[in-house]
Amino acid sequence: MASEPCEACGESVTIGGGIAGIWSSDHEGTGGMTLELTDGTEHFLCFSCIEELPDEPTAADVAELPH
Ligand SMILES: [Zn+2]
Repeated sequence: MASEPCEACGESVTIGGGIAGIWSSDHEGTGGMTLELTDGTEHFLCFSCIEELPDEPTAADVAELPH
């Protein structure tokens, strides 16, 4: 188990086990994930920030998240 700061809000986010855990409905122990955007950039965000993003977020949408 590791933790990483969310790129938008800066909160320390706990990262659980592998990819399977990320995509399951059980988010226990995992507070965020790395999003690969349609423009090819990657951003590590917590789920509460991810929920604020539109369906096809861009780097500009990530930059506009509350900090
Ligand atoms: Zn966040």
